[in-house]
Amino acid sequence: MITIKSAREIETMARAGRIVHDTLQRMREIVRPGMTTEDLDAEAERFIRSHAGALPSFLGLYGFPKTLCVSIDEEIVHGIPSVNRVLKAGSLVSVDCGVCLEGLHADSATTIPVGEVSAEAQRLMDVTEASLAAGIAATIIGHHVGDIGHAVQTVAEAAGFGVVRELVGHGIGTRFHEEPQVPNFGKPKRGPALRTGMTIAIEPMITLGKPATKTLKDKWTVVTADGSLAAHFEHTVAITVDGPRILT
Ligand code: MG
Ligand code: MG
Repeated sequence: MITIKSAREIETMARAGRIVHDTLQRMREIVRPGMTTEDLDAEAERFIRSHAGALPSFLGLYGFPKTLCVSIDEEIVHGIPSVNRVLKAGSLVSVDCGVCLEGLHADSATTIPVGEVSAEAQRLMDVTEASLAAGIAATIIGHHVGDIGHAVQTVAEAAGFGVVRELVGHGIGTRFHEEPQVPNFGKPKRGPALRTGMTIAIEPMITLGKPATKTLKDKWTVVTADGSLAAHFEHTVAITVDGPRILT
């Protein structure tokens, strides 16, 4: 079932989204070679909990043990922060963060360069972010979920990059993952109609090589099957009569 949020619920999600945004900004400020992914997680958890009533959404979600998902280079999503994972110059680190405030969630992700990165890696980040912007621009009343995926896919594939199929965006609200699923590929006018008061997380996962994935033995970390670099950008968006409103 697709839930419709009240104006008040959307305002609460926007407050949760502000904390998510500020947490990711903080990660962008502190990322440097030599840090561990556990260092990022510890700071994110401290920062989130410094806001009254705010809780990390991921901690315990389906049994996930940490506040952030931190995924390096060929890791696409769901990397588990660890004292054994050290950031190296030239890497891309994707940080995914969710915050729950007053029973409502917000979800956002960003990919951060560690020191200087290759021109190719920079272009992958730029195109992934542009594909997210295209998806958000398509999130308007009168469109369908397929229009969002089509917009994301068009930008990513025009650049020659791979669009991950196995993982998708999602509705979000009192539950972290709600209907509808929001794929990063699709056809215009297909899928559920977009209506006022829907809140969805749009999250392109784009690869420098082929889009096929595999999951590591830790049962969480999803990587590119061909070992190519991946990037991940995400925003939580509310559909309003005035157009898409980014809550994160
Ligand atoms: Mg996320
Ligand atoms: Mg998400």
